[in-house]
Amino acid sequence: MLPVIALVGRPNVGKSTLFNRLTKTRDALVADFPGLTRDRKYGQATVDSMAFIVVDTGGISGDEEGIDAAMAEQSLLAIDEADVVFFLVDARAGMTPADQGIAEYLRRSEKKVYVVANKVDGIDGDSESADFYALGLGQVHQIAAAHGRGVSQLLSESLGELTEQFPDMTVSEAIKPVSEEDADAQLERLQGLPIKLAIVGKPNVGKSTLTNRILGEERVVVYDLPGTTRDSVFIPMQRDEREYILIDTAGVRKRKKVTDAIEKFSIVKTLQAIEEANVVLMIIDAREGISDQDLSLLGFVLNSGRSLVLAVNKWDGLDKDVKEDIKRELDRRLGFIDFARLHFISALHGTGVGHLFESVQEAYASATQRINTSMLTRIMEMAQEDHQPPLVRGRRVKMKYAHAGGYNPPVIVIHGNQVQDLSDSYKRYLMNYFRKALKTMGTPIKIEFREGA
Ligand code: GDP
Ligand code: GDP
Repeated sequence: MLPVIALVGRPNVGKSTLFNRLTKTRDALVADFPGLTRDRKYGQATVDSMAFIVVDTGGISGDEEGIDAAMAEQSLLAIDEADVVFFLVDARAGMTPADQGIAEYLRRSEKKVYVVANKVDGIDGDSESADFYALGLGQVHQIAAAHGRGVSQLLSESLGELTEQFPDMTVSEAIKPVSEEDADAQLERLQGLPIKLAIVGKPNVGKSTLTNRILGEERVVVYDLPGTTRDSVFIPMQRDEREYILIDTAGVRKRKKVTDAIEKFSIVKTLQAIEEANVVLMIIDAREGISDQDLSLLGFVLNSGRSLVLAVNKWDGLDKDVKEDIKRELDRRLGFIDFARLHFISALHGTGVGHLFESVQEAYASATQRINTSMLTRIMEMAQEDHQPPLVRGRRVKMKYAHAGGYNPPVIVIHGNQVQDLSDSYKRYLMNYFRKALKTMGTPIKIEFREGA
């Protein structure tokens, strides 16, 4: 599971500036779930090959009185879900009563807290941040979020400490291209394991109904794992002679010690589940159409490189005209996802559920089919013959050979001259060529370009 860093502090201290700086390194997609989570924003970040989730808690208003009022419930929850808290204060403004109120709460929360004095650019950081030692939360880390100063030091310190707790927190192996031998080893490991299937979607789309429907049809062994409330529950199951582990984000199978205060839907839980899964089954509500929340979640799935199956739920009892309208709308808004199968189901009545699993298997098989150098190089050569790469600065780009660099998603590493200069449209052409030639369905393919042999 990826560690979670929460950014906490009163307004204007620089939380969103830091958030943007942390997430920009990786085509960050920010999930902004209005209504659900007030101002909370979630992003995936990768720094020095360590991946984590960062949450901008927003929501804490310095104007309100008293810590309970000042810290909106949603912010408290974000802190609760975090492994590490960056408590931002403004070195220019100096200490305020609101800072002290937040500090008092954080001291009681038993979270690992880093006091971060921001905006130390152009001032004497040491003297301006000295006051903040009085917060009683230990060392004060100086940064200038706007300029990036001190940020990587803060991260290497905090993430460094986390590494012991999260031994696998390095970037998902699959996304980082590896040598062909390592890719082979990775594939072998994958093949011996059950398919981890995460069922995700915004609240009320029917995740619990579908999960219960699936579980009701199978002989299921549920095991309770120790862990925090934000973690999903892993449910091993069998279907069509395949082993699965269902990652239950809907809270169908509650842990023993889940308190009522914990909201049923948690974005952190959802993001963790996506990272943990081999295949993501994303549910959309036919009656609500595609919302921004759906698109944000989809963005996270696409970013993760996981296999994807889409299901439009609540397809029961709709008029033919309405169905046609919904399909047109889906085409228009989801057209950019050209690799995933789309199903129309009714979790309530169980229609279409069997076919879902066919697509899940297909997606997983596509993501884990062995691809070797000679096959990939041949496909690459055919693509090159059918459609020559364009000239770059008067020279023809020359692709020489291709090899596998990972699975789930399949990563194809192409070596050659000036390959980094290939246009986006040529890269897209290659992607589609590989997809057709390899007959993949349900998984994205990543192509990496390497200069030279
Ligand atoms: P938030 O309300 O905590 O999310 O704060 P913002 O990120 O919106 O920043 C509030 C203001 O502080 C903005 O005008 C930023 O440009 C400014 N700011 C943020 N970081 C820095 C910094 O490192 N140095 C300076 N001088 N200004 C900063
Ligand atoms: P979750 O929050 O995603 O777990 O959603 P639930 O499974 O709790 O479902 C939310 C509501 O939608 C409940 O009232 C369900 O009965 C209803 N629902 C779920 N699936 C279907 C479906 O296929 N058709 C219809 N008509 N209602 C459904």
